[in-house]
This record gives sequence, C-alpha cells and structure tokens, in this order.
Amino acid sequence: MTSSFADLGLSPGRVKHLNDMGFTKPTAIQAQAIPHLIAGHDAVGLAQTGTGKTAAFALPILEQVNVSNRYVQALVLTPTRELAMQVSQAMQGFTIDRRLQVTAVYGGQSIGQQLSRLRRGSQVVVGTPGRVIDLIDRGGLVLDQVSVMVLDEADEMLNMGFIQDVEKILSHTPDERQTAFFSATMEPAIQKLAARFLKSPVTVSVEPQKASTARIKQIAYVVPKGWTKPRALMPILEIEDPESAIIFVRTRRTAADLTRQLQAAGHSADEYHGDLTQSQRERLLQRFRQRQVRWVVATDIAARGIHVDDLSHVINYELPDNLDSYVHRIGRTGRAGKEGRAVSIVSPLEKYKLTRVEKRFHKPMEYCKVPTQAAIAARHLEKLQTRVREAITSERVASFLPIVSQLGEEYDIRTIAAAALQMAYDQARPTQLRAEEYADKPKPKPVKLNGNEATPQENRVSTSQ
Ligand code: AMP
Repeated sequence: MTSSFADLGLSPGRVKHLNDMGFTKPTAIQAQAIPHLIAGHDAVGLAQTGTGKTAAFALPILEQVNVSNRYVQALVLTPTRELAMQVSQAMQGFTIDRRLQVTAVYGGQSIGQQLSRLRRGSQVVVGTPGRVIDLIDRGGLVLDQVSVMVLDEADEMLNMGFIQDVEKILSHTPDERQTAFFSATMEPAIQKLAARFLKSPVTVSVEPQKASTARIKQIAYVVPKGWTKPRALMPILEIEDPESAIIFVRTRRTAADLTRQLQAAGHSADEYHGDLTQSQRERLLQRFRQRQVRWVVATDIAARGIHVDDLSHVINYELPDNLDSYVHRIGRTGRAGKEGRAVSIVSPLEKYKLTRVEKRFHKPMEYCKVPTQAAIAARHLEKLQTRVREAITSERVASFLPIVSQLGEEYDIRTIAAAALQMAYDQARPTQLRAEEYADKPKPKPVKLNGNEATPQENRVSTSQ
C-alpha cells in the first residue's frame, strides 16, 4: 500500500508543496491513478467528486508540462463552467513554477478576455466543450502540441449531449497524445468512447464515499419568478419551522444581511463568522446547543467551526460550489436516529444543479412550492391543536377551571375556548406580521385553471422529475 506522494513518482518539490498545502497522504484514486498517468498510460478513472480525483489527473499533468514552452500542452474538458473554474483553480494551486499558466475557458465570460489570456501563453487549458470549440474556430486555441487530454466527469459530459463536441476537439489534438477519462460511472457510452479514443487504457476505480443520508429528506423550493430569495425564505422558514438549523450562504456579506433580516422578522437567529472572538464563538455555540438560538447563518468555511451536528434542518439558502460541500453540509442533520431535513432554496436557473445531487444520491429531490400565507396559517393552527391536546392532559389545566366557570356565567363555553385559542395563536406567532411583508406581497395574479381561478402558489407539490 502506497503511503506517500513521493512513492507515486511526483517530484520532491511538488511533494513538499503538497505537504505545505496539507496534502500529506494520497487518496485512493490518487494512489492508483498517478503512477499510471506519470508513466504515460491512457486511463479511465472511476471516481466521484470528493475522492480527490482532480489532483489525480492534475498532478501528473503538472509534472510533465514544459514551462519554457508556452504552447498549450494539456487540455482538460469539463461539462460545466463551475467545474472548469474549480479544476483550473485547483491546478493553479498545485503549481510550483510561476511560469506555468492555467487558463479556464467557458461560456458566459467575455471571449475577448479568454483570447487575450491564451495569446499570452498557457500550458494548461481547462474548459467547457462549447467554448473550447469556439476558441479553436477563432484560431485562439491551438491544440497541435497537446500531449495530455483529460475528460473530467465524462459521463456528465455525454449526458449533456457534448459527445460530438468532444470528438471534434479530440480530432484537433495529436494522435500520440495521452488521454484519460474520469467518470463517476462506467456506462456503455463511456466504454464505447474509451474504446475509440484511448490506447490500451488502465482502469482504476474507487468506491464512492458512503454518505449516510438515509435519514435525510432532501427538499427543494424553487423561488417563483420575480421573487427575491429573502422573500421566499420567510414563508419557507415559517412552514419548515426548524427546531435547529444552519443556514448556509456563500459570502460573509450575505450571512450578515440575512441574519439582520431574520432578526428583524423576530426570529431566533445569529451569524457565526471568523471575526468573532473565541469567547463570542463559544457563547454562541453554547446558546445554539441549548436551543436558545435556533438558527445559525454561516458560510461553509465559518461552519467548520460549528461543532454541532444534531440539527433538525440544514438550509441551503445558497448552494455550494461543489457536491462534496453539499454532502458535507447536509450530513449535519439526520443524526442520532432522527429524521433530518435538508432544504435547498434555488432560483429556476439553479435547478439544474440539483440534478447532480439527485444523481449522486440516486434519489429524486422533493420539490415544494413556496407556501402561501394560507398554508402557513393552516400549519400554525395544526400546531395549536397539538398544543391544546397536550395542555388538556397536563396537571396545570385544573387551575384554570375556576376562570372557565366564572366566564361561563356570561358566555357560551365554546366561545370562551375559541377566544383562548385566538390569544394563544396570536402569542405564538410574533413573527407573523413581519413575515407577511415578505410572503404574499404583491399578491400573485390568479391564473385560470380549467375555468376556475386559483393562485399559482397553492400548497405543496411533489414531483420526482
Ligand atoms: P475532488 O474530488 O478532486 O473534488 O477533491 C475533493 C477535495 O479533497 C478537495 O477539496 C481537495 O482539495 C481535497 N483533497 C484532494 N486530495 C487530497 C489529499 N491527498 N489530501 C487532502 N485533501 C485532498
């Protein structure tokens, strides 16, 4: 069993750099793939995100790139722009020579900027197929000196219909190149592609990480068009009513803004961030554990300091950049034999990201509509009934009977009960008035359904698509 990066054939400088980064031991996919790739073999790596697959192909590429040559020598194709950015950042982080340039190219960013970066010279290009072809066609990306080509998330690339683009790009690279595919699954289409483009490839695979997500219910709310996320969040929190939750955001600024809004709406929420002093942190965590603060808003990085796992909810107010972080986030709920809820709030444009989550867990996401005020009120009444049932069986109820008898001389018993419930209902919902500011304003226009009028935000729906 290999135990160090040095044993895998990486140069001493790289090994030291990796150690400095905290990478002291190769992961399973790295231990298996790196020696073959350094030896120049073609390879198929079966590994999911989170296994360390990026370094598994990135390190051998960086070892063999000639930094005094400014032509593109390695090309990594990824199915999405997020992954392109992530891979190129990771590769940049592994470099030990400042002359080595890694350029990410993807749609949605000015092609002019990418062309000028390429003109300045880049030994490694990481990109999405569409943009790579565009750059080839414009003469800005020349691949005739490419000696390594990697398809990252090859299965995803095929699912997204990039097969012809990939073939076209491959045809622009020299035949004597080294080629590697990384894929989460060995589908027949991947086998076919490998048979066509890889030369006697070795196959290496690692078991997918087993996240114990059996007790985690994954739910997604899609923010209606024209709504902001904060406006959608309030009714969602009202209906989900998390006993304890971390609300994940991407930036410190969003964390601060959101915490302010939640507090202004009367919720028990606080922000956890790196600038808190040690004693402030401890106090907040203590209050969180004791449920004095129910919700903590944090970025992924800040949340590392929150050693509280037994949460009723994890709320993804903003989705993380990668699946691994998602798995990590939601693993904080569904512990100790209890069911947990992982709630993601996504804009219609972000919905596609959840298909990757569904694939990872082999489980459809439950989609819900942002609840209406009527649905929220119904939920509160339901809870009120439960509380009344509990009160009826409690010992203290007897001490209130004299008041009931007294009032009973003036009013009907049912009216007295209803008035008491009304008071309890109003007291239990201090946030209601403010939440209404976010919830149903402006009123959604009624839509015609089979000639009947209905509001678009009716109740819960569950689809598995
Ligand atoms: P990946 O599967 O490539 O997305 O990597 C998952 C995460 O593991 C990334 O955050 C890497 O920085 C980290 N990682 C990869 N290899 C190692 C290693 N050998 N030691 C520690 N962390 C690693």
